[in-house]
Amino acid sequence: MSKKLFAIFGNPVAHSKSPLMHNFAFQNLEFDGCYGRYLLENGNELKDKFISLGLSGANITVPHKEEAFRACDELDEFAKIAKAVNTIVLRDGKLYGYNTDGAGFLKSISKFQDIKTILILGAGGTAQSTSIILRNSGYEVTILNRSQERLKSFIDNGFECYTFDNFDSRRHYDLIVNMTSAGLTDDSLAAPSNILEQIIKNSKACMDIIYGKETPFLQLAKSLCKPTSDGSDMLLYQGVLAFDYFTNHKFNHLEIERELRRAFI
Ligand code: NDP
Repeated sequence: MSKKLFAIFGNPVAHSKSPLMHNFAFQNLEFDGCYGRYLLENGNELKDKFISLGLSGANITVPHKEEAFRACDELDEFAKIAKAVNTIVLRDGKLYGYNTDGAGFLKSISKFQDIKTILILGAGGTAQSTSIILRNSGYEVTILNRSQERLKSFIDNGFECYTFDNFDSRRHYDLIVNMTSAGLTDDSLAAPSNILEQIIKNSKACMDIIYGKETPFLQLAKSLCKPTSDGSDMLLYQGVLAFDYFTNHKFNHLEIERELRRAFI
């Protein structure tokens, strides 16, 4: 069997830990694969790049998940719900698109106790892929986004949605999650500080799905003495599912998780 090639596409992509995680697991599970990163500026070029690089599979990160959704020939149920794809596998000349973000996120919040209500900051691809899974799992989900435009599909799906202008920050939510890209490459907060301070004070815990740095949102939550978590566990669990697709279910999830986790140490 010849070496199988994989990559992550994104912009930015330099921060991604996916190459480290997957290469470590390929090596230790003795799978003949190699995983790189590709800075993709124009999402329209995703399919051509995937083919010309000779890839067997890929992960897709911000801001190309919706473009990846459009590029695939076949889609799993989570990708269809989210209209966003974060994992692509090539089989028999067709691109199969999956979304592992929702399931990865759900598992990553199991460490927080007594969470019933969740406020998601942001209405992008990841908010799409997580919100319905969360609701199907019994959580009450509210969406708060900077602009109105992206809220339409959430409203159509029956979610309570707000922009900064019409949001009542005296409301209580058990868990506040930053699912915006604010703080990824800059030092901006995901919402105005007066709104954030109040909802964080009223919350039980705060999570940022950005990983590898302490974002202004997490710094604020820590300064208000809240339990916090970054996006490392979500990265890990969505990565387990992606690795499972890349290797065509050759390994069990616990051994994949063990190797991906060791890559962080
Ligand atoms: P999208 O580009 O699809 O959506 C971005 C969202 O962030 C939009 O709602 C946008 O609001 C909002 N936003 C962007 N900048 C700001 C800002 N300065 N202030 C307030 N809101 C802002 O991104 P994704 O959903 O794909 O990804 C979001 C983040 O999640 C990224 O940082 C990504 O790295 C991270 N991520 C982490 C994962 C993990 O495994 N840990 C997995 C997936 C994603 P508007 O609609 O107004 O433009």
